Amino acid sequence: MKLVFLGTSGSTPTKERGLTSVALQFDGNVFLFDCPEGTQRQMMKSKTSYMKINHVFISHFHADHFLGLPGLLATMAIHGRTNDLNIFGPKGIEKKIKDLIKLSEFKLSFEIKAQEIKKGIIVKENNYSITAFPLKHEIECHGFVFKEKDKEGEFNRAKAEALKIPAGPLYSKLAEGKKIKFEGKTFSPEQVMDYSKARKGRKISIVFDTLANNSYLKQIEESDILVHESSFLEEKKARALETLHSYAKQVGALAEKAKVKKLYLIHLSPRIKEIERIENEARMEFAESFVAKDLDSIEIMQN
Ligand SMILES: [Zn+2]
Ligand SMILES: [Zn+2]
Repeated sequence: MKLVFLGTSGSTPTKERGLTSVALQFDGNVFLFDCPEGTQRQMMKSKTSYMKINHVFISHFHADHFLGLPGLLATMAIHGRTNDLNIFGPKGIEKKIKDLIKLSEFKLSFEIKAQEIKKGIIVKENNYSITAFPLKHEIECHGFVFKEKDKEGEFNRAKAEALKIPAGPLYSKLAEGKKIKFEGKTFSPEQVMDYSKARKGRKISIVFDTLANNSYLKQIEESDILVHESSFLEEKKARALETLHSYAKQVGALAEKAKVKKLYLIHLSPRIKEIERIENEARMEFAESFVAKDLDSIEIMQN
C-alpha cells in the first residue's frame, strides 16, 4: 500500500507545489482523491499509472479540486481505455462530468459511472471499504476513509487436515467464520483458525477543505495515516474561520485527540513561505506531524 502526494498547494499552484491531490495504491488499483489541474503530469512524474485508476473521488466543486478531470478523461480515452471508471462526487456530479466532456469536445472510449456521495460506506469490496463523511466548508465537501479489512486470524490447514475435512469450499467457509457440516459432524471455525495471527487492517483518512472540528473525529480515529488540509497558521485563525479552512495547530490537536499514528498536512496556502512553521505548529500538539511535499510517497506496511 502506497500513498502518493501528487500536489499539496491550496487554492492556486505555486512553482514548488501543484494543487492538492492524493493517490492511494492498493492491491493493483489506484484510488485518486481529487483531480485538480496538473494532476496528470504529477502522476507521470511519480510513476502512478492513470490506467490503473478505477475510482476517482471528488471532495467538492471548488476549482482547485476538480478541474483536472476533463484532461484526465481525455487522456484515458486517447489511450483507448475500455474499463468503466467510477467517479464519486457531490450532488450534481453526473451533470458536471457531462458538461465538462461536452465543453472539451472529445469522445469517451469507456463508460463513466458517476455516483453522488452520501455519508457512510460508498465502496465495499472483499478486502477494503471506503467511507465518506461530510466536512464543514463553504459548499458540500467530503472527507474519506480507506479501510483495509481486518484479519481475524489465519486458517490452519494442518488442523483442518487432522480433522479430515476435505480441502476446497469447506475450508473457505471456515475461514470466513462459518460453521460447516461434513459427514454428519459439525465443525466450527475455532477448531481450525489461529487467532493469534489476527491483525488490524490499515486505515487511511483523507480530509480536504474544512474547518477542523470534532464532527468527524470518530471516522478518523486510530488511522494509520491522517492526511488533513492545513491552509493556515494560527496567526490567520480569523481567516480560517471565515473561509472554513483549518490551521496547523488545530489539525495537530485533532490528530492527537483522534489517536492517529501519523499526520500529513496538505493544501497549504501559497502565501506561506516558511513551511517549517506549519510543521512546527502542528508538532506542538502532535509530534508525528509532517508537511507533505509534492511527489512524496509513503509505503504503508501491514499492521
Ligand atoms: Zn481547496
Ligand atoms: Zn474549497
